[in-house]
Amino acid sequence: MAITTQVTCDVCGQQKKDGESWLVAVRRIDAPGIGFGAEGAMYEGRSQDLAIEHICGQGCAHTRLSRWLDSQLHQTTEAA
Ligand SMILES: [Zn+2]
Repeated sequence: MAITTQVTCDVCGQQKKDGESWLVAVRRIDAPGIGFGAEGAMYEGRSQDLAIEHICGQGCAHTRLSRWLDSQLHQTTEAA
């Protein structure tokens, strides 16, 4: 993912404002599954094997989880 100073929610597209605490959705590149956590710290610098999406809040986290579950129900045998 390209480095950018402007963070936007990967679900709703809202732009992050200074001082807001956001969440991240984290997927491993090489394994199924998705996790959620606080933005920053433990995930940064591991982008080589993690796909990190910025999530503006719990509402969008739930939406993202639902999308992921849908993708699992409808996934093909091909790797994503
Ligand atoms: Zn959002």
